[in-house]
Amino acid sequence: SFRALVLTQGADRKVSGAIETLEDDRLPAGDVTVAVEYSTLNYKDGLVLTSGGGLVKSWPHVGGIDFAGTVERSDNPAFTPGDKVVLNGWRVGELHWGGYATKARVKGDWLVKLPSPLSTRHAMAIGTAGYTSMLCVMALRKHGVLPESGEVLVTGAAGGVGSIAVAILARLGYQVVAATGRPQEAAYLQSLGAATIIDRKELTEAPDRPLLSERYAGVVDTVSGVMLARALAQVKYGGAAAVCGLAGGPSFPGSILPFILRGVTMYGIDSVMLPKAPREEAWRHLGTELPLDRLDSTVTEAGLGELMALAPKILKGEIRGRVVIDVNR
Ligand code: NAP
Repeated sequence: SFRALVLTQGADRKVSGAIETLEDDRLPAGDVTVAVEYSTLNYKDGLVLTSGGGLVKSWPHVGGIDFAGTVERSDNPAFTPGDKVVLNGWRVGELHWGGYATKARVKGDWLVKLPSPLSTRHAMAIGTAGYTSMLCVMALRKHGVLPESGEVLVTGAAGGVGSIAVAILARLGYQVVAATGRPQEAAYLQSLGAATIIDRKELTEAPDRPLLSERYAGVVDTVSGVMLARALAQVKYGGAAAVCGLAGGPSFPGSILPFILRGVTMYGIDSVMLPKAPREEAWRHLGTELPLDRLDSTVTEAGLGELMALAPKILKGEIRGRVVIDVNR
């Protein structure tokens, strides 16, 4: 048997959760069973835990879009019991039961073996947020945005994706400009390596001109909306933005001019359906390029029983850094 936070949806679409002990035959189909050790709380989990967010198709449901643990049983030749593994995305925690349980059963093709410096707790301190940040950084590097190219802007910097993007970029030697709506988090962002903190307000007024003064060699954007439009208008000639989030809404009032007059490139980053090879590449980089001591300062730990109370907070942008869920707590 195993313990899980089981979610049900009422007639008003409101989601309720209760911790239950279930028999293993309730686990979904899959060729690998994992003893989950840690999961996390992401923006998307916040949606699933409060309203389903249109992401969940059948109830009762077990959420948790990412998890790390130890393989308990495997019918997949790539995995043997005892392997430490991590899972991000593949619509686990949405269409398939996820990590808010002490056991999960998934397709082995969705799992990545953890590189040796990382523990399962590290893997979830990084989580989908950190893995997505690394995908953004990889896109900027491949584009040729290097530490000597100039400042790199991170929006939503005190959030999960933003915090880890700041830490990775600073560790790689970039001059990081962190944009946050929470000035009280300035010291935290500096401890992660941000060189400059700017108030979100500087980027939330719609640009009155399609091009502003050139400032940033690169951008990691987790917010979209006006912030993205304003950031793009300040990217230097030939620079790039890696965009992964919509904390400020899905559309942005942008102009084509940064693209056609300054040769700016925008990279869309998807962590969910990304093929296995670039996933493994991202996790390899995370194993060597993330300052694990700084990572610890981004983490708040909670148990399955605290998730329902934490969910509305992440939707309101009130969570700092990363929440790691110890499913055995
Ligand atoms: P998070 O911890 O809630 O961080 C989001 C941050 O955005 C907040 O901490 C806040 O930062 C800022 N923010 C929130 N509401 C805002 C608003 N209305 N206007 C401007 N800024 C606002 O969430 P997360 O887990 O890091 O995820 C960030 C985004 O990336 C989400 O949209 C998520 O869905 C997306 N995401 C996408 C992928 C992918 O595969 N593409 C993967 C993971 C996450 P400050 O307080 O510092 O301003």
